[in-house]
Amino acid sequence: MEYVKGTPYFCQVSEKIKQYPYINKDLKCDILIVGGGIDGAILNYYLSKKYDVTLIDKSRFGRSCTSCATVLLEYQLDDYAEDLLAFMSEEEIVSVYQMGLDSIEKIDEFIKQNGNLCHFRKVPSFMYTNSIFGASGIEKEHQFRVKHNFKSKLFTNETNPFPFEIKAGIYNEDGGAEFNPYLFTKQMIESASNQTALFENTEIVKIVENGDGFIAQTNFGDKIACNKIILATGFNFSLMEEKDLCERVISYTIVTKQIKGLNWKHNALIQDDQDPYHYLRILPDNRLIFGGEDTKFKLKPINDKLARKKYDKLTKDLKALLPDYAHEIEVEYKFCGAFGSTENNLGLIGETETPNLYYFLSAGANGIINAMYGARLMQDIIEGKENPFAHLFSPLRK
Ligand SMILES: Cc1cc2nc3c(=O)[nH]c(=O)nc-3n(C[C@H](O)[C@H](O)[C@H](O)COP(=O)(O)OP(=O)(O)OC[C@H]3O[C@@H](n4cnc5c(N)ncnc54)[C@H](O)[C@@H]3O)c2cc1C
Repeated sequence: MEYVKGTPYFCQVSEKIKQYPYINKDLKCDILIVGGGIDGAILNYYLSKKYDVTLIDKSRFGRSCTSCATVLLEYQLDDYAEDLLAFMSEEEIVSVYQMGLDSIEKIDEFIKQNGNLCHFRKVPSFMYTNSIFGASGIEKEHQFRVKHNFKSKLFTNETNPFPFEIKAGIYNEDGGAEFNPYLFTKQMIESASNQTALFENTEIVKIVENGDGFIAQTNFGDKIACNKIILATGFNFSLMEEKDLCERVISYTIVTKQIKGLNWKHNALIQDDQDPYHYLRILPDNRLIFGGEDTKFKLKPINDKLARKKYDKLTKDLKALLPDYAHEIEVEYKFCGAFGSTENNLGLIGETETPNLYYFLSAGANGIINAMYGARLMQDIIEGKENPFAHLFSPLRK
């Protein structure tokens, strides 16, 4: 089944980087991570500092849904705090927001230690509405943030500094960041390469419990004996007991050719409140990346005809949103990919009903930040430490 289609910009513009071998003999390790997308890469980076880890991917690292992420790295979740109160307490929402901010700092720390090979930069974020009905939601979210000491500035039609119309919007000066997700994944993997066994082009086709651990069998027939297995396989649920873990969504993206003089307030990340929503940012090489128009799916993920319609709609909407740039907007890349959505907007991270078998699946349009704090949660779980947020991420939660 295909979960990614089109020409994912982030891979297309990146030089072909180091490839890793496939498995050709039986192996042993303490922890086997299956799936080398951005989730598996982040988890591997942190776990391999302490444990004997093997990371394996059936394809090439970072080339599945990871390569499609638009990468607006933000601390807030997909829904407003007010709507999340049905699933979390106010204190929990505040803690999750704080974990989001801390995760951006952790990425910054990683970049400072390892070099900026993935076009990372911190930028503000701006969430806005252009409807009168949406304005009260924005104002309430602003009040929630101010009440809990998050930096938040409310703009209205009169004070709007952006080149598109708004009724209201929340500006977070230090609430966001961006990078190339493919390069970040490769950098995380490469940075841990001295302490991990890394294999590409090797699929795990079967997992069997064998008393004190597991035997994971590859498509080549080689076997990996391990004590713990973590499935970071994104949308490939074939190895999972439960197949209906979350709502699945396809999100569509266009990237324009370079546009001269493109800028707005500090290159803020932009997100609207429409249903389906849209997100927009300026890429470091002066292109616009614009996406959204999400559609749900159950069995067949990508419908080519629908994808073409969505790309056309995104192109039209982008021109209408930014009339000053409309004559220069020419689309060069179009792609779409799948991600999962849960009620509380948080990933499925933790132990399953089978002891020592774990899921590490980020969720939501903010999945990358989910994976950053999920990696810290997973370390606690592996070490048997209490973590006050484990229940919010548990794959066994209802
Ligand atoms: C269009 C779009 C826009 C997005 N925008 C954002 C955004 O702005 N901000 C944000 O934070 N998030 C965003 N996301 C979400 C983000 O992309 C995901 O959270 C993230 O990519 C999930 O990474 P992953 O590693 O779980 O999945 P994947 O990248 O799909 O990786 C899973 C890997 O597992 C491997 N695999 C599967 N089965 C097996 C097996 N049996 N054996 C071996 N390997 C296996 C696959 O080959 C694959 O490489 C967006 C997603 C999409 C689709």
